[in-house]
Amino acid sequence: MTTAPTVELKDYPAAHWNSDEAGRCARCSEPCKKYGSMANPLCRGCFAKTAAGWGPVVRQKGYNA
Ligand SMILES: [Zn+2]
Repeated sequence: MTTAPTVELKDYPAAHWNSDEAGRCARCSEPCKKYGSMANPLCRGCFAKTAAGWGPVVRQKGYNA
């Protein structure tokens, strides 16, 4: 039995965005910043769950690389 690690999101994915950068999370359809810098196809909630499942070798620009 393992406990899911928690991830520190800091500013990624972006918590605020303009209307022309708005999209829907690919997983839960919550609004998220989908275009431009600091954007991700996942909302912050889903990104945190996804990133928590990554091993230490995974790097994503804007998040940890
Ligand atoms: Zn989501």
